[in-house]
Amino acid sequence: MKISLPVTISFSIILILLYLIVTFDSRASNNAKVIPASPVQVIPISHATFILKWDNKTIYIDPVGDRYTFENETAPDIILVTDIHGDHLSTDVLSQIIGKATLVVPSAVGNILPDEISTNAKILNNGEVTVSQGFKILAIPMYNLPESEDSKHVRGRGNGYLIEHNGFRVYIAGDTAGIQEMRDLRNIDIAFIPMNLPYTMSYEEAADAVLEFKPKQVYPYHYRSEGGERSILNFKKLIKNGDGKIEVILKNWYPFG
Ligand code: ZN
Repeated sequence: MKISLPVTISFSIILILLYLIVTFDSRASNNAKVIPASPVQVIPISHATFILKWDNKTIYIDPVGDRYTFENETAPDIILVTDIHGDHLSTDVLSQIIGKATLVVPSAVGNILPDEISTNAKILNNGEVTVSQGFKILAIPMYNLPESEDSKHVRGRGNGYLIEHNGFRVYIAGDTAGIQEMRDLRNIDIAFIPMNLPYTMSYEEAADAVLEFKPKQVYPYHYRSEGGERSILNFKKLIKNGDGKIEVILKNWYPFG
């Protein structure tokens, strides 16, 4: 039996279909503009410790923890250590995970590594560059302001790092204030920025520095302090008001409280 729908119903169905096609199409193209695919996957571990997965390589930053912390993670190809303090350097963890990874450290860290690890270590001081497995790694200064000899982070000891690969640039600030060397950076795709006093800087100073060098994406990290969770929300607000194009990405850096 042949069914013929009334003309008005057929027309309505066509209109609904057209609406759905147009809406779906515009949503799809909006999404494509808003969320470009990032070549870097970020895996926060805790506080200052994280993993980058990038072009089939695995890069560990300041691996600390216990013998279970990294047991379910891909082994590192490159390890970067920023400074000598216990929230950045664990020789026990390094001994456990190092395998055949390239280890990049400032000389202050290199000087206190046990022999079996230091043979793998590439010493890099502020301003120096090395290339490992196609990743260009530049050591950027990190220090407290105002500068003083007894500050927690004196200029020249620790390294922030700028990693560049296939034109994509990731900046890891380390424990630092909003120093001029950070403010002078340009064309940063992802930045990791600390905010906890008295170790690094306030969220206001962090926002002020970030608004000057304008990374495309910024991850607040190293924010353990009284009110740390509130700081990162306030930081996000300041960035949104200052430059809506900078994306602030909040992750849980303190999964165990
Ligand atoms: Zn620290």
